[in-house]
Amino acid sequence: MTVAELAKELYPEDLFGYATKLTEGELNVLKKLREELEEHVRPVLNDSWENALLPREEILTAFRNAEIMSHPALFEGREGELRVRETYNAFLYLELTRFDPSVATFYTVHGGLGYNTILIGGTDEQIEKYGSLVRSFEGQTCFALTEPDHGSDIAGGLATTAERKGDTWVLNGEKRWIGGAKTADFIPVFARDVEDKKIKCFLVQKGSEGLTVEDVQQKVSLRIVNNGHITLDNVEVAEADRLPNIHGYGKVAEIFTHTRTDVAHIAMGTAAGAFNAALKLTTEREQFNRKLAGFQLVQEKLARMQANVVASIGYSVRVAEIQETGTQDMLNSSLAKMHNSLRMRETVALAREVCGGNGITLATDVARFFADAEAIYTYEGTHEINSLLVGREITGIGAFV
Ligand SMILES: Cc1cc2nc3c(=O)[nH]c(=O)nc-3n(C[C@H](O)[C@H](O)[C@H](O)COP(=O)(O)OP(=O)(O)OC[C@H]3O[C@@H](n4cnc5c(N)ncnc54)[C@H](O)[C@@H]3O)c2cc1C
Repeated sequence: MTVAELAKELYPEDLFGYATKLTEGELNVLKKLREELEEHVRPVLNDSWENALLPREEILTAFRNAEIMSHPALFEGREGELRVRETYNAFLYLELTRFDPSVATFYTVHGGLGYNTILIGGTDEQIEKYGSLVRSFEGQTCFALTEPDHGSDIAGGLATTAERKGDTWVLNGEKRWIGGAKTADFIPVFARDVEDKKIKCFLVQKGSEGLTVEDVQQKVSLRIVNNGHITLDNVEVAEADRLPNIHGYGKVAEIFTHTRTDVAHIAMGTAAGAFNAALKLTTEREQFNRKLAGFQLVQEKLARMQANVVASIGYSVRVAEIQETGTQDMLNSSLAKMHNSLRMRETVALAREVCGGNGITLATDVARFFADAEAIYTYEGTHEINSLLVGREITGIGAFV
């Protein structure tokens, strides 16, 4: 099978054929991932969503078997590099999210936010030790920045404290919404040094004394991923587990410049997943002795969803290509997250609409995408915050307050 044939078989919703920018090796990893997800996670997917249970081992087995961060085919001609190609990364998120947004979110806090925090903040030794655990999925990580009283204003408001006592740091404070925190083996926690007031990052080990992680309860979005409410009560972290290259919020922004595009890809994949599910139902179900997809009013909505998906893949792929040149900036990351999230929200609503009552049950998949889109619209910079970031860049006027 040629690259073009394989790309078309895997992603029929990619009408402009952006997936032909992938190598055969990259496409084969994504194909293997799909088989693994279908085998291990599909059978427990809807029950996991309904009961808010994370099928951690099933998901990690699929990731490990497909070697989505480490397969040699992902590094052909780029041996020794630590990150996969950004264009592959965009399609990895499409593959994960069109399967399920919670699975993609579980991945992004680990392989996106957590991993990039270690790569950007860590020493060579820390990258060697923790980075390899992340890539092989032998160790699970996440990203603990947001706090109960500081979401959008975290840059100036971060209140968790770190106090140095010899070779040990003592952390106090709370973190909220931390995806995957309950089961993470090491948690990158951002805290403000009481001495120089700068934001620093510490790898808090699972089971540390004084560390409590409770699930945020009764969520109606991304029910499969646990979101931790973390309490740090005099938690001790060795200086050796501080990521020394993170000193000040500027470095956190650098992580986001890198990872906000991942959320743009997740929004793109959520739109694709909802569209695919709606196309399936409307081409199968009949009313008035005709397929739902045969009605003009339904086709107009399908066409609008399709256009949103193609536009969002275009945004994702182009922003990935810019990342590959090393010239990525916050404007492009925020623009892509903002655009794809808006198109996602419209798409999941249209998908829900054309499926009628079936669109609110888990059986058609559409309901999951519809509910999950709300969290994606909000996390890693809400729509408003990303528009303000874009607005500041294009006008030169900061309008946050
Ligand atoms: C499911 C989920 C998973 C998450 N995972 C993580 C994670 O793993 N790690 C982590 O650190 N965080 C995580 N977050 C936190 C997420 O990044 C925050 O929810 C987000 O930054 C918004 O903060 P907030 O929810 O406190 O909203 P708020 O800051 O309270 O904002 C509420 C509303 O006010 C608007 N608003 C705020 N300030 C302004 C302004 N200046 N101008 C105009 N409008 C404004 C916002 O856009 C929003 O619409 C997660 C959140 C969710 C919902």
